Amino acid sequence: MPQETAEVAVVGAGPVGLIAAIELARAGLRPVLLDAKDGIAWSSRAICISRRSQEILDRIGAGAAFAAKGLGWSRGRSFYRDREVFRLAMPFAPTDRHAPFINIQQFYTEQFLRDALLAVAPACAPRWGHRVAGARQDADGVSLEVIGPDGGYTLRADWVVAADGGRSALREAFGLALRGTAYESRYLIADIEVPGVDRPVERNVWFDPPSNPGSTVILHVQPDHVWRIDYQLRDDEDGDEALREENVTARLAAQLDMMGVRAPWRLVWRSLYKALALSLDDYRHGRVVFAGDAAHLVPIFGVRGLNSGIDDAHNLGWKLALVARGAAPAALLDSYSLERRRVTAENHAQATRSTWFMSPPGAGFRLMRDAALELAGAHAFASALLNPRQSAAHVYDASPAVTPDAVPCAEGVVPGASLPNLPAVILGADGRQTSGFLQDALPPLGFTLLAFVEALGGPQVLAPLAAATAGAGVPLRLLPVVRDAAAAGTAGAVVDADGTLAARFAAAQFPLTLLRPDEHVAARFTGADPVPVLAALDRALAPPLGPAAAPGTAAPAAVPATPPERGFAAISRALEPAGPAGAAGLLARLALLLAEELGDADRVLRCVAAAEGSG
Ligand SMILES: Cc1cc2nc3c(=O)[nH]c(=O)nc-3n(C[C@H](O)[C@H](O)[C@H](O)COP(=O)(O)OP(=O)(O)OC[C@H]3O[C@@H](n4cnc5c(N)ncnc54)[C@H](O)[C@@H]3O)c2cc1C
Repeated sequence: MPQETAEVAVVGAGPVGLIAAIELARAGLRPVLLDAKDGIAWSSRAICISRRSQEILDRIGAGAAFAAKGLGWSRGRSFYRDREVFRLAMPFAPTDRHAPFINIQQFYTEQFLRDALLAVAPACAPRWGHRVAGARQDADGVSLEVIGPDGGYTLRADWVVAADGGRSALREAFGLALRGTAYESRYLIADIEVPGVDRPVERNVWFDPPSNPGSTVILHVQPDHVWRIDYQLRDDEDGDEALREENVTARLAAQLDMMGVRAPWRLVWRSLYKALALSLDDYRHGRVVFAGDAAHLVPIFGVRGLNSGIDDAHNLGWKLALVARGAAPAALLDSYSLERRRVTAENHAQATRSTWFMSPPGAGFRLMRDAALELAGAHAFASALLNPRQSAAHVYDASPAVTPDAVPCAEGVVPGASLPNLPAVILGADGRQTSGFLQDALPPLGFTLLAFVEALGGPQVLAPLAAATAGAGVPLRLLPVVRDAAAAGTAGAVVDADGTLAARFAAAQFPLTLLRPDEHVAARFTGADPVPVLAALDRALAPPLGPAAAPGTAAPAAVPATPPERGFAAISRALEPAGPAGAAGLLARLALLLAEELGDADRVLRCVAAAEGSG
């Protein structure tokens, strides 16, 4: 078989593989990007892109296309039968660059990413129709057996990014398995085109709606007057039967009728979906690094699938570029696995709580979910249980690649957090000031040392700092932030005339912040001494991994359950073995025990009245 070589091969030109290829190409590598399909997938999958993902898309040069096409949103409404029971309102200030989410079809996402890749490196265009059929590796590289349109060949790569999706052929080639939970409940995913009708862009959920009794229905508006309507199937429903066009159309017609939509519409997509919370034990397998759905699957509730894949590729891109170039040890890739596995654990914990409501995993959970829905609206704690816990930026606070504060402090932008993309004024070479956002002031590649000049004692500290960090061995730019533009000295500095940035970064305490190339804080410092800066840089490039890096289901999730969530889960689980027959008795005993614990007759009577009233 003919043989080709590559520094890095990326298998899979879905969104995650495309971003990995863009990141590598931006860093000067020439990745070979292979995909079994003939071109962009015109299927309908991810639609909600988070604010953090939008920031990453900006960084890789794709943001403008998404901003032009996507529909921004920050709100949602949930209904139980015919009653509104929860309002979602995610923070969205007029000064924010991005809405908490934009909705956009995944085929646009892939198209815009392909365009961004071609703009950076036309030579790295995806090789469509090139399927990886087998793989093996040794100490020096990976040999991929590729079947292309003109026959088979071997691609010998130093490193491989496995972004080949949920059914990853590379996972199979290396005998690796995903582990976790597969939920039984199924959803039918439908897209309809409703020309000429403008709906508010928000997340709508109906539990047990009159149009579809016993089911849960989710609606999101997408560009081009396309609405995504997902509805839950009954457990006894036959999937093939449910997918038949006439059956889908009848269910959707009932839903649209209930919503008062009288305009003509047309079904443009339908498929079945089952929630999975699965992960590899380790995202690095020698010279093969797994990302996106190939590494982990996350239930769609809370929209963490694609968003976490985007984050994977952004975390991996700079690390793999440095390792492939010999500028960092291969252990840096273990920090990728470690950081992202912890995020998967967090995502699974959050998505599991959303799944209790969207797709209850058993009779006990269903009983409790319905009880919470009965109480929601009138009782804030019950409404809060309906919060979809949408995907949010992660903090790599437990990462060995991140240097913790010498004295832990919650003020400012903590180690491991991503850069808050606040409005910023940037000083041009001609002395002119341009309004933009902090992210715009970062160098396109490499580390950034954000220096709050006044808090450091004045501009005289900058030159020695720059000199000391110049020989760091990796690109590192010193970025001054000044209150007084006259003190900036250099083009590209950030002017913080009203001190907003200094306050947000707690600059009085931490005048220096080291940012990684993926905009996460590697460390922050209390003074201008370059020695700890260089030590933190070393740690970011060659992290002391320790036992935490060992393969295995990841470290505990960083988002602890709230007390109502813990109570909800505990009672639901207790009800599972009790079954429908024993549930009433168990709940009666539980009510008596809780009343005894509460010890206040008036409060108990008020609870009894509220429980009666909610029915
Ligand atoms: C109905 C639905 C709704 C969703 N909604 C959301 C949402 O709103 N937000 C969100 O964040 N996520 C959502 N997701 C999840 C999201 O779609 C996935 O997480 C995302 O597509 C993963 O991207 P990926 O690049 O890892 O994998 P994929 O998109 O699956 O891409 C993998 C690529 O690898 C290629 N490939 C496979 N095998 C080979 C091989 N042997 N050789 C070469 N190439 C190969 C494939 O052709 C494909 O192009 C949703 C998913 C579904 C199903």
